[in-house]
Amino acid sequence: MNTITSTKCLIKVLSLSCIVALAISQTAFAQSKKDRIGMEYLESGFSTYDSIQKQIHDLAEPGYLEYESSEILIRHLEENGFTVQKGVADIPTAFIATYGSGSPVIGLLGEFDALPGMSQDTSAYQHPLKEGAAGHACGHNILGTATAASAVAISKWLAQGHKGTVKYFGCPAEEGGGGKYYMTEAGCFEGCDAVFDWHPSNANKVSLSTWKACMSVKFSFSGVSAHAGGSPWMGRSALDAVEAFDNMMNMMREHVPEGTRIHYIISDGGQAPNIVPSKAQVYYYFRNKDAKIVKEVFERALLAAQGAAMGTGTTMEYEIVNACHEKLVNRTLSEILLKNMQKAGGVILDDREMAYAEKLAATAGGDRSSCDNFAAVPAQLQEAVDIGTSTDVGEVSQMVPLASIEVACIPDCQISLHTWQTASCVGTTIGTKALLSTAKVFYLSAIDLYNNPATIKAIRDEYEAAQGKDHKFSPLMDRKPPLDYCK
Ligand SMILES: [Zn+2]
Repeated sequence: MNTITSTKCLIKVLSLSCIVALAISQTAFAQSKKDRIGMEYLESGFSTYDSIQKQIHDLAEPGYLEYESSEILIRHLEENGFTVQKGVADIPTAFIATYGSGSPVIGLLGEFDALPGMSQDTSAYQHPLKEGAAGHACGHNILGTATAASAVAISKWLAQGHKGTVKYFGCPAEEGGGGKYYMTEAGCFEGCDAVFDWHPSNANKVSLSTWKACMSVKFSFSGVSAHAGGSPWMGRSALDAVEAFDNMMNMMREHVPEGTRIHYIISDGGQAPNIVPSKAQVYYYFRNKDAKIVKEVFERALLAAQGAAMGTGTTMEYEIVNACHEKLVNRTLSEILLKNMQKAGGVILDDREMAYAEKLAATAGGDRSSCDNFAAVPAQLQEAVDIGTSTDVGEVSQMVPLASIEVACIPDCQISLHTWQTASCVGTTIGTKALLSTAKVFYLSAIDLYNNPATIKAIRDEYEAAQGKDHKFSPLMDRKPPLDYCK
């Protein structure tokens, strides 16, 4: 080969590679423009989702009674081309909305139940919307709306000819009713490759924490009534049985595995001191980060309750009210959520919202610095910390790979969830901004998964390694949904 020819060849090769590079960058540009469709939808969706979350906020329907709230979300999803299956798992307010076809299948959890007695408007002082009514003190008005927004955004991307499915799970009664327990039992989540979940919080974070498994159980004792002064020897006190049982449980605390929590209330202790109570009831929660231990502690408690009944001449019946497994968090999926939380950015308040948040913070000893949390985005995953509470999201996580995020919706001071301050803040435009931030994180993460089958496999491999390949889901109770528990 002579020099002239080789130079010509080099020029040819260079110009060819320039064209190829240009073509690749144009494809990448076209691709990223295609991928932006859902982000553009969310960026222009403020008024739509502000209206939806505020309607649900003001309806504030408690567990299993979320008829209108679920209907608002169903209508919105149907208007956007989703097919909706209503009344799943024998629960009138549970539903699954589906868009697209084939795999991967991405699931999004939506909650919309309110807390009894927590009614609150959006003032920066305590002021119920309706005295004694329920309120969104856990922010489920924005929880369910955020995942609906991201489901619609994802559907816009799928509609461009992409293969894959998005499923929105309308999950009622998170607050004590365990809606997801029954939906899991009914097989609603089967076939999902990944499920996204979130919760309003006082920080933006992606946490690997395992919430505790829990069983809540009512123990009811029956004895014989008598005049407590006139003829006490004729009575057999059901309250004595409760007290004997509680005494044994308080001694048992020392002899249960580390990290177990046992708490109770006497839900019925009789009517008057001068009547030997023929009926009494005590309501227990048993928690540990391992469902097997929770079951063992419950079985020991059952023996103690039987012993208390025997010793006091009474009889005992029990009802498992609610149960859930610990949350199994998928690290691979969490890393994707973190990367996209960094991309989507934090919740940016305007001057009016900042002034309101500052006022709200002041009611709980906070100040302006308590509001820095809204915009702050985490640099890394939060490694698992010991969380004392439980969630029915645990059930879903035992069935399919799942990861969760938390998004800042309240100032970071002495304001926790389940307070009037939270119920107020999540009903404002701060709540709307937080829900749209959440929706963006889930949208970007879903696109990452649809575009990368290898990541889906890695998520599955991690789940199977944690559960064991032949893992069988083993329920903690056998009962029908307590549809009237908030009536
Ligand atoms: Zn909640």
